[in-house]
Amino acid sequence: MFGLLQNGRGLYQNRLPGWHFVGLVNNTSLLARGALITGVWFVTMRGLLPGLLMKERFDNIRVVLVNTSHPGNIGAAARAIKNMGLERLFLVAPQEFPADRAVWRAANAVDVLNRAVVVETLEEAIGDCGLVIGSSARERSIPWPSLEPRECGERMWREAADHQVALVFGREDRGLTNDELQKCTYHVHIPSNPEYSSLNLAAAVQVLTYEVRMAALSGSKTASAGDNEWDIPPAKMAELELYYVHLEQALVDLGFHDRANPRQTMTRLRRLFNRIRLDSMELSILRGVLTAIQNAVFRFEKTVSKDETSPSGADDPS
Ligand code: SAH
Repeated sequence: MFGLLQNGRGLYQNRLPGWHFVGLVNNTSLLARGALITGVWFVTMRGLLPGLLMKERFDNIRVVLVNTSHPGNIGAAARAIKNMGLERLFLVAPQEFPADRAVWRAANAVDVLNRAVVVETLEEAIGDCGLVIGSSARERSIPWPSLEPRECGERMWREAADHQVALVFGREDRGLTNDELQKCTYHVHIPSNPEYSSLNLAAAVQVLTYEVRMAALSGSKTASAGDNEWDIPPAKMAELELYYVHLEQALVDLGFHDRANPRQTMTRLRRLFNRIRLDSMELSILRGVLTAIQNAVFRFEKTVSKDETSPSGADDPS
């Protein structure tokens, strides 16, 4: 029997009547080996799985630098990103890139630079994202839903389980424009010295990506992917932009909004819908409502103009 345990071929050499039993022992040996392999696999996967899950979520997170003027800052930002385990860098109309200075400052993060996606507009960089957080060194004229850096890291990490998320940084000299900030779901401000609040671009990238990493390290021990409660995914940024174009046109058609004298109507409406965080189903319903309103306005205008041109309509002496 021991011989059989060591050598499976022993089954055929055994001439005793109890070979079924011996066969069972042989199967047990196979089972034992299977259990051992499964055990090793399980232990290995238990070690690797958090890392794999973390990598998968990190792949859904991108850092976007808008219109950066110093290539050294792009390199330093690439390094900061890689230090924190992130990899995806988007550059919106960088003033000088590729550049040697970027490579020098990136040190061992040249791979992040080489894979950086260069685009012309912020819309292109964030169009497929369900969450966009814009960072700002100072308060802006219109308050916007804002997060503390810690909340920012936690939210990015949580939502990255379900969709693409972006963290956006502005120009060294002027930050992000109001238009760009209004394309963001939330703003984040690092509570720096109010008398000198503006961090170097790469330093700001470092602080905020550190918070994402902290969220990942604490979250990966307990929370699993998909802990967000909503049943429908949030509308993507590109869908939202189309909605705002449609909304503005419908308000013009209704006579409510004047593009020549816009005041802050669209900004405030953007902020309103932003606060709600429309999901993609709600967004398509609203677009249907806008189309119905436009059709009603169109029918109404057609009836009025027919009445005005018809001989029996205007100037009826009776
Ligand atoms: N002079 C610019 C600041 C540019 S710093 C201004 O006043 O707006 C470049 C970028 O780094 C900013 O656009 C922002 O994305 C980020 N940044 C710098 N300091 C920050 C802070 N305290 N909080 C959040 N982001 C900051």
